[in-house]
Amino acid sequence: MGRPAAERREDLVALYKEARACTRCPLHESRTQVVFGAGNADADLMFVGEAPGATEDEQGIPFVGRAGQLLNELLAEQGMARDDVFIANVLKSRPPGNRDPQPDEIEACRPYLERQVELIEPRVICTLGNFATKLLTGSPTGITRVHGVPQERELGARTVQLFPIFHPAAGLRTPAVKEQLREDFAKLPALLAEPVPQEPAPDAGDAGGEPVARPQDQLGLFGQ
Ligand code: URA
Repeated sequence: MGRPAAERREDLVALYKEARACTRCPLHESRTQVVFGAGNADADLMFVGEAPGATEDEQGIPFVGRAGQLLNELLAEQGMARDDVFIANVLKSRPPGNRDPQPDEIEACRPYLERQVELIEPRVICTLGNFATKLLTGSPTGITRVHGVPQERELGARTVQLFPIFHPAAGLRTPAVKEQLREDFAKLPALLAEPVPQEPAPDAGDAGGEPVARPQDQLGLFGQ
């Protein structure tokens, strides 16, 4: 079992502060603010999108535009809300004009995502679209071929189920993709209910313990 949730959340807040000041790639010059990620810092389910768009860049919160509304809708259909999951992106800063993330930007930002996975300890990571899927599967195979089928992977020194699905923005453009997204989303509850292979038995000291304190300076981005 991993470290207590409160400690991991504190480290996540520290990582957020580091990211807010990040100048590792040129996107820091054009962004309004860093979009680090938001949601439950101890979530079993994490979503990884591509990069913030204009609305996310303004608000500092991922998936708050039209694609985010579809994501909320798909979550609700499975009885989940944003506060139940953690939502992040491959890039934490908006590419100008919403252009594709560049390889050097992805490499510069990758340590933040890897550390987020280590700290949140999700059991299932849903990659949204090609960029997140290719980065986290480590394979060039595109989303059309791999969506809807879980892949067991070692990430952040733990075994997780990667679950690639189409990006919600693609669902907004193409009704058939939206239908496929719905079908793939419907597989999530069963996937979350599966035991994680090779995960050690829960440590009694860490299970159902004290309520987790909420650090002050986290701008409400990370719930317990
Ligand atoms: N698209 C993404 O990939 N991420 C966001 O946060 C918003 C739109």
